[in-house]
Order: sequence, then structure tokens, then C-alpha cells
Amino acid sequence: MAMYVFTFQEAAGKGKELLGGKGYGLAEMTGLRLPVPPGFIITTEACLDYMRTGELPPGLKEEVLHHLGWLEAEVGRKLGDPDKPLLVSVRSGAAVSMPGMMDTVLNLGLNDRTVLGLANMTSNEAFAKNCYRRLLSMFGDTVVGIHRSLFEKELQVVKERQGVAYDTELSAAAWDTVVGKFAEVYEAHGKSFPQDPYDQLWEAILGVFRSWNSDRAVKYRDVNRIPHDMGTAVNVQAMVFGNMGGNSGTGVAFTRDPATGEKVVYGEYLFNAQGEDVVAGIRTPKPISQLAQEAPGIYRELAKTSERLEHHFRDVQDLEFTIEDGKFYMLQTRAGQRTAAAAVKIAVDMVGEGLIDKEEAVRRVTAEQVERLLHRQIDPKAEVQVIAKGLNASPGAAMGAVVFEPDEAEEAAASGEKVILVRTETTPDDIHGIVAAQGVLTSRGGRTSHAAIVTRGMGKPCVAGCEAIQVDYEKRLFSTPEVVVREGDVITIDGASGKVVLGEAPLVEPQMTADFKTLLAWADEIRSLGVRANADTPGDSRTARELGAEGIGLCRTEHMFMAPDRLPLMQKMIMAATKEERLGALDRLLPFQKQDFVDILREMEGLPVTIRLLDPPLHEFLPNLEELLVEVTEMRTKGEDGEELAGKEELLRRVRALHEANPMLGLRGCRLGLLYPEINEMQVRAIISASCSLKSEGVEVLPEIMIPLVGHKNELAAVREQLEAVAKEEMNLAGVEVQYSFGTMIEVPRGALAADEIAEVAEFFSFGTNDLTQTTFGFSRDDAEGKFLARYLELGILDANPFEILDRKGVGELMRIAVERGRTTRPDLKIGICGEHGGEPRSVRVCHQLDLDYVSCSPFRVPIARLAAAHAVLEEKGRLVEEIR
Ligand code: PEP
Ligand code: MG
Repeated sequence: MAMYVFTFQEAAGKGKELLGGKGYGLAEMTGLRLPVPPGFIITTEACLDYMRTGELPPGLKEEVLHHLGWLEAEVGRKLGDPDKPLLVSVRSGAAVSMPGMMDTVLNLGLNDRTVLGLANMTSNEAFAKNCYRRLLSMFGDTVVGIHRSLFEKELQVVKERQGVAYDTELSAAAWDTVVGKFAEVYEAHGKSFPQDPYDQLWEAILGVFRSWNSDRAVKYRDVNRIPHDMGTAVNVQAMVFGNMGGNSGTGVAFTRDPATGEKVVYGEYLFNAQGEDVVAGIRTPKPISQLAQEAPGIYRELAKTSERLEHHFRDVQDLEFTIEDGKFYMLQTRAGQRTAAAAVKIAVDMVGEGLIDKEEAVRRVTAEQVERLLHRQIDPKAEVQVIAKGLNASPGAAMGAVVFEPDEAEEAAASGEKVILVRTETTPDDIHGIVAAQGVLTSRGGRTSHAAIVTRGMGKPCVAGCEAIQVDYEKRLFSTPEVVVREGDVITIDGASGKVVLGEAPLVEPQMTADFKTLLAWADEIRSLGVRANADTPGDSRTARELGAEGIGLCRTEHMFMAPDRLPLMQKMIMAATKEERLGALDRLLPFQKQDFVDILREMEGLPVTIRLLDPPLHEFLPNLEELLVEVTEMRTKGEDGEELAGKEELLRRVRALHEANPMLGLRGCRLGLLYPEINEMQVRAIISASCSLKSEGVEVLPEIMIPLVGHKNELAAVREQLEAVAKEEMNLAGVEVQYSFGTMIEVPRGALAADEIAEVAEFFSFGTNDLTQTTFGFSRDDAEGKFLARYLELGILDANPFEILDRKGVGELMRIAVERGRTTRPDLKIGICGEHGGEPRSVRVCHQLDLDYVSCSPFRVPIARLAAAHAVLEEKGRLVEEIR
């Protein structure tokens, strides 16, 4: 027959899944001979059986009664005994901590008769009756379903009538009144409190089982992705009382400071109180440090216990203790929640203390925690007014006055003002405003929108696709259904959570501490995947290198043309009506390009730099068609004539000619260089001549030339042939030979499927998973997130946004095929990823599993990728089985 009930001693060594977290902690502490009041655990299996059948499993009652008999003998009191009643607590405890989500009943065993026995036994009538009313309200709330506030209201009335502030000041007679009132609350609900303690016990056990499926518990599990099929255990334990007078008390403590990680016992306590009083906020608890003066013996015992528990669990513990008439008891221990900063410090300190090894330290810090540490964030303790939520496009928090025009952002920044640039979406024309602003908020566009990519590259906060706001450029305001925010009003944005906050929220600075660097260095020892960065400027390259990047995996050359001094030249080049005109513009762009590459390659000396030739749809560099049309129409209506109008009309003609219905699938990627070879030619000249100059200075350069959006080997072969000739010419000219490699992005499905053929021409592949996701799903990367993806997620059609987390089943499968076929043709083919997924922890794990050589991500995500790559190895070794807390 199944065993459903174990005493704390019997349970030692059994797992959390069976005992629940609370029971597990109690059993372990009992095994360590710590002062734990005796008790027993009804396992999660009993709960699951009950859920299945709707009835207590056969034999359970007998087992409980048997253990109750043992408990009575242990304590020397009996349940329901009018003279010496045993009181127990009945608490829930799931394998995964779900704070406050499930139920607890204290002081079970009291009734109208036993309460007098307790009063006699303790010579404290007020105390006994206070315990009774606690049972009445807790039982009413958790088992019968009468809201706790109804009891609290009655208590408040009595306290006011008696003119007292604290419960402890009420007399026994006043408690009688309260108990009477509570009985009336039951009656008003057509219920009565069960006077038989055994009835209380069975009902409480069932109440705890049922609380597993309460609305709030189900919701909590949904939000925290906790499985619904684990069930809760029930812990039945002899009561000890912290509210028996001035020599009793209760407290909660962490074995280390959970905010900083400092090695000091940290927490709060209250004398003459029962557990819930500490958290209820009615009386202000005192800091644990004060316990050392107030009760040095108890403090010493707490400190010693805390040390023993840390050694036993090899982790920070979150404890609950009670002092009954001067005697110290432990009521709970579990792994303590901690801030990101504390997680890093504790992990590194514990390696130093010999408690854990380096792998364990790396395992314990999550990628999300690293992310939090790398960026400024809104102080988690601050109360703020969140007015909207958009996509968490580029992490970090920023605060400033709202401006809508990039020029104004620039002017304001020049006069030292901090601003947030708010746009419906951004274009390359807005770049100076983005540079000047503290952060960017857009109402449209996804995680791979212009605003998102550019800000991420700069390490600047961005909330994108915030559909909840309406931007009105004319009235210079944006609004939500509830608030209107005008130009000049201050807002704070948090690009890690997507929150938009009204006013100035307090921010906390990022912390790249020595411990953090140590931990990342340990991660580097573990990981096999390389980590590079996506960087387009010398500044980004330096940041990337400082954050541990081992090269550049994507240098988007089009970003280099977005600077205000280059954009007009670029536009000229695109607008050119003839090849000669285009060559003229390209000639003027060449020196800029060369200097860019000199600077970047110098920064990355000795490390590979993958330079992608021009990729974007050309219209991105051109004025907006609709705006231009309006402008020309207005000029015509006003009867304007002359050169200006003619110029605008010519511009309009050209913009129209270049206009595409589907620009993402249009003239971009390698197609651009195939139609206008002179663009590629200029770029290759710049790369090779920059490399030659540096090499002759003695700087080691490792350029890799990458062609985007290739789907057919002939595309790549044609480009390669053209470029090799140019490269040779430049080297001859410089009289220097540089090693460079030639490769392609795999970012359309055909490219992946035809990888065997493409690898004949390419020496490396880099997965452009932004486009590969777009083309695999057929979801526009510019519109999908704003238009329908959120709904897809709500409906559960997709588990996650595929532009954020790599879709293993579809996109990942294409990648697997490309890796396999590519390496069949060319076994030493180097393969990386440079889409936004390269810095996303779950996607990094997939890249490790697919045996990629490296991931490449924005500089500020490099540390995250380093840790995630180490986690992927630990998972493979079976060391990353998520600890169930
Ligand atoms: C990609 O498509 O994943 C990629 C890296 O290129 P881009 O985002 O510049 O199109
Ligand atoms: Mg792409």
C-alpha cells in the first residue's frame, strides 16, 4: 500500500517533489537535529490522488491518525483534550515555492472548551483567546471561504471601542467579544465553525489540497510557467507560540543579505507575535542586528543555525524562527530569493569559501540576472506610475523630457537637457535625434525595427511597438486612454521590461563588479561556443571587446552611411540616374568607408571582423513617399514654380521609381550588388585597402567579407568573382597581401536548403535569423509584432515571439539542415549566427546544440551570451537540471 504520511524524521532524504519545499526543509532540519517542533508530512502524491478521484486516498485517514498518535505522545498533549490540548499548524507546501498562494491554518485544535485548557496551561487567558480568534479567521478564510477582511473589520471595531492600537493590548474579555463576533460572521454565511478538532483537521487538509487549484494559485503558476500537475504536500506540526508574552517572539531571516549578498544574517523579528504579524505590517518589526543586543543568546543560536544550514544546503537560506518562552525553534528553511547583484556575489564568495565549485557558481546565476546587472534599471523598490507597456526592444532605463522631433532632441541635448525621443517609428533620417536622446519610445515596429536595432547597438534604452500610445506630431503630444503626455513632460522608459512610466523614476546604475568579471571568466572556461558582437563603429567595437567579444560577427555597413555627413552622399548615390553619377557619389563615400574599416579593424586587432556588404532596401535611405507627395502637391496648389519645385518633382519621380510594394522581399541583400556592382566594388576596395594599410603598420587584421540574403549559389558565385578581382587589384596597388575570407549569410529558406551548393562558394555561413524568421514564417519583421503577434501569444497559438526566441521547430530545423549540408561540402565551414537571437539565452542554447562555432549579438548582450553558452554546456553535462525550490 502506498505510504502517504511521514514524520519529519522518516521523511529525511526524500525529495522535494514528494515532500514539497516546506516539508523537505523541515525534514532536513530535523535530520540535522535542529530544534524543529515535531510533525508529519502528507505527501504531494496524496494531493494528486485526491485531485484525480475527488476523495481522500484509501488508508490516508488511518495513516494520519497513526502519526497524530505519535505526535501526541511526542508532545505529551492530545488533540481535543480539554485540559492539555495539542494544537497544530496545517500548512501547504508545494515543490516550487509559490509565496502566499496557498493556505495555512494555525492553532488548529482549539474550540470553545480547549481554549480554556490552553488558558489554564499557559496561565494566560488573553493569549489563549487571541489564538482561538486567529484559528477562527484563518479557518474561515482558507477552508470555509469567508474573506479574511470580514473578520478583520470586526476586530477593528472592538479595538476602536476599547481604544487600543495593538492586538496584544486587548483583554481576555475583549477577545471573548471578538470570538463572539467571528461566530456571527460564520452564521451570516450560513456556516458554523467545527468544534470537533478532528473535523477541523480533515477539513483543513482538504482545504490545503484544494488550494492547489485556487484561481490565484493557477494564475501564479501560469505566469511563472510552473507545471500544474505537481500538487501540494500538507505539513502538520505541533504549534509553538511566539505570542506567549515578552519572552516569546518570531522572525524571518536570510543567511546573507539578499540585496547585496553580504555575509551577514539579515532579517526582522518581533517579540510577542505570531508569524503573520511580522509580514502583516501592523507592528513594525526590528532588524535582526538588534536581536544581538536584545537577546544575545537567541541571536547566537540563530547565527549558528544559519551557518549550519548554509553548509548543509550550500546556498543562501530564507528562514523562519519562533521563540517560545525563551526557547528557539526553527519553522522553515528554503533557498533564499536574491537580487542579481547578490546572486553574483554569493556565487563567487561561496566558491572562495569552498562551499561550491566554479561550475555550480556559473549555474546559479541566470542570464536574466546578468542582463539586469548590465543596464541601468528603474529602482525595483520604487513606486511608479506605469502608463503603457511596449516591447522591451533595447534594455536599460532612461529618463528625460519628451520630444517628438530628432532636430529638437539634438538641440535639447546640446544645451544639456535630457530627452526621450518619441516617434511612431524611426528611420535613418532620425539618427541624430537617437544619438542625442537618452532613450527612444516608438508606437510601432518590432524588436528588429530600425529603432530597436540601432538603439541596441548603441546600448541605449528603447521601448518599441508601444501600441498603447497614440503619437500626435502636430499637437506635440502622445496619449493613452488615461493620460496625455505633452512635449516637455518627463517620462522614464525601461527597455528591459517595456514599461513607460510617467515622471522621473529613480534609477539604479549597472554594476560590472570584480565578482561579475570573475564569474564570466569561469563561464568562458566552461563554454565551447564562441561569442562575437554585432558592431558598426569603433566605439561599439571597443565596448564589445571590453565585454568579452572574441570578434565582430556582423558589421552592418549601411549603418555607417546613416551619419548626418554621409546620408546626403548615400542618397545621391541611390538617386543617381546614371552609372557615372553613381560612381561619382561612391568615390566620395570611399574615403569615409576606408576610415571606418581602419578604425574598426584596429580596435579588433588580432580578432576576426565580419563585414557585411550593403544590405537594406534602398527606400530606407530616401525621403518618405507620402510626405514628399504632400509637399509637392502643396507647392503646386500654391502655384509655386521654379527650380525648387522642379527639384522636388524629380525627387518624387525617383522615389516612386524605387518604391516597392514589398521592400523586405525586394531590391536588397546581394541583389543590390548584383544590379549595381559598383556599390560592392567600392566597399571591397575600402575593406582591402584599409586592411593593407593596417597590415603594413604591423596590425594583425582578419577581415571576413559577407554577402547577405543569398538563396542560390549562382548569386554568390557571381559576386565572388567580381569581388576577388577588385581585392587583387587593391592588394597589388598597395603591394601588400592580406588574408581575407569570403562567406554568406543564410537568411532565406532556400539558402539553408541549398547549403551544400552554397558552401562550394562560401568559406563561412552566418545565420541571419531576423530575416530567416521573417521568411520562414512569412511574418513581416517590421509589422508582425505590432499587428498580430501579441494576439497570437495571448491565444496560445505561439508560445513565444519567434523574433525574440529562436523557433527551434521551423527556423532551427532549417539551420540544422544548413549546418549538416554545408559541412558535408566543406567540413571546416565556419558557422555563426548574427540575428538578434544570438544574444538570447534560450536561442544560444539551440546554437550550441546545433554545433555552431559562435554566436554574435549586440555588445551589451555579450556577457549574457557568454553565460548562456556556459549554461548550454552545463545542461549537456546534466548540471543544469533546474533546482526545484
Ligand atoms: C538578419 O536578418 O538576421 C540579420 C542579421 O540581418 P539584418 O537584421 O541586418 O537584416
Ligand atoms: Mg538580414
